[in-house]
Amino acid sequence: MKLKIDETFNRELPKDPIKDNYPRQVVESCYSVATPRIPTEPQIIHVSDEMMQAIGLTEHDKSSKKFLDIFSGKKVIEGTEPYAMCYGGHQFGHWAGQLGDGRAINLTELLVEGNRWALQLKGAGVTPYSRTADGLAVLRSSVREHLCSEAMYHLGVPTTRSLSLMLTGDQVLRDMMYDGNPKYEKGAVVCRLAPSFIRFGNFQIFASRRDEKNLKILTDYTIRHFFPHIEKGGEKGYIQFFEEVLDRTLDMVIHWQRVGFVHGVMNTDNLSILGSTIDYGPYGWLEGYDHQWTPNTTDRQHHRYGYGKQPDIALWNLAQLGSALVPLIGEAQPLQEILNGYKDKYQSNYLSMMRSKLGLSQTLAVDLALVEELEDILQVTETDMTIFFRNLANIQLESTHTNFFPLINDAFYKSEELTEVIKKLWNDWLTKYTERLRIENSTDRERKESMDAVNPKYVLRNYMAQLAIDKADNGDYSLIGTFYQMLKSPYSEQPEYQEWFAKRPEWARHKVGCSMLSCSS
Ligand code: AMP
Ligand code: MG
Repeated sequence: MKLKIDETFNRELPKDPIKDNYPRQVVESCYSVATPRIPTEPQIIHVSDEMMQAIGLTEHDKSSKKFLDIFSGKKVIEGTEPYAMCYGGHQFGHWAGQLGDGRAINLTELLVEGNRWALQLKGAGVTPYSRTADGLAVLRSSVREHLCSEAMYHLGVPTTRSLSLMLTGDQVLRDMMYDGNPKYEKGAVVCRLAPSFIRFGNFQIFASRRDEKNLKILTDYTIRHFFPHIEKGGEKGYIQFFEEVLDRTLDMVIHWQRVGFVHGVMNTDNLSILGSTIDYGPYGWLEGYDHQWTPNTTDRQHHRYGYGKQPDIALWNLAQLGSALVPLIGEAQPLQEILNGYKDKYQSNYLSMMRSKLGLSQTLAVDLALVEELEDILQVTETDMTIFFRNLANIQLESTHTNFFPLINDAFYKSEELTEVIKKLWNDWLTKYTERLRIENSTDRERKESMDAVNPKYVLRNYMAQLAIDKADNGDYSLIGTFYQMLKSPYSEQPEYQEWFAKRPEWARHKVGCSMLSCSS
């Protein structure tokens, strides 16, 4: 097994001089060394064949002892020195000070066919940033991270990736619902990948400590490697950098809104500087379309990170990043202006995205009202987002039928709530929608094709992840493989997986893990 190592982060950035692994405040450094914990009995559960290929490994490597050793944390890759990153963050709107990689350990970076991949083990033991926690991860959260990272990629959403999911053979104590009932669970480790794992919080920690020297070193590094087209040094470059981070973050959130993904913990330490989805914790997929909905039980009261709030929260987080960058520019004004442009950019990009979901290629003034009315009636009675949009593409203007309601009937959770009033709302909207469609000059087939390319048929529904987890807990990993395969082509019909194009079953409505998730992972 040969890895194409090409390290930058730990070669070019300041390192914590203390080598011992104990919890502490780490200043004037971007990272500290930290060696993964040796697992008792590592075992491979699932490997992403695509990521194997991406990092230049073969099917043969997968069964090698070296692969198991390295990606379970048992052995350090020769010539490397694993490390944990230092960052801070705002959690639920409040500055939390230093956080850092408390249970993620960076192995190394690879450069394969021009693509940079930083490799990170999640759940490989304590680091100087673990505070009072154990640095470990349990099987359930690791299955969720592994499957969802890959699923998001195939949905076309910017995201970190996942190479492997392994059991460590160790038991991990977790109080899953924070209700005083801790239980031992199977420990697991995921190897995730991204060009870089730098977060908003990496910049914030230096700014909060008025450490402008290291703030500049980190920002210059980030621009040099990940925004190479930006003019190096100088205020203009930093302003452009901020604008690009804003654009990428906005683009990512619009994708989330398109597929119905709710991150659950949009703290500034969980926002990637590359605009990729990062840190799959208590995330969830919209089943019933609902702007308020969040899967995160910690956020049940305030819905700070609910589906409909995500765009505003991204802006709030960008404002925090902007504040952190002010010392590099000397004034806040240029960054404020960029932030001021966010809402308009969002509105316009969001509307284009919604047009694509509705199969509208022309840009007409009436579209905004059409979309807004749709958002309202989708929330009148519980309506499955994925099924609704997928089935909407089946409207055939060329047929003699004029009643299109039966086409979307499958999307409603509670048929008894479909009163005449609600049906009328829908029929009125469908009439407006079909009138609008008639202005387009695409055929029914063309429209369906374009809609099916943006409205997924298969997403990792919350109860599906939980089914895979329940089986895995009992030593059956087959469903992980099934979902991994199915979610590689989320926009294709794949009739063999039809059973997963279905509403959440009633048993999952209030089940822990299906509709309620905690940060405990
Ligand atoms: P999160 O919001 O889950 O991304 O985590 C917030 C902070 O807590 C980060 O600094 C994590 O590294 C840290 N953290 C979360 N879980 C653990 C754990 N089990 N052990 C050590 N640190 C953790
Ligand atoms: Mg995090």
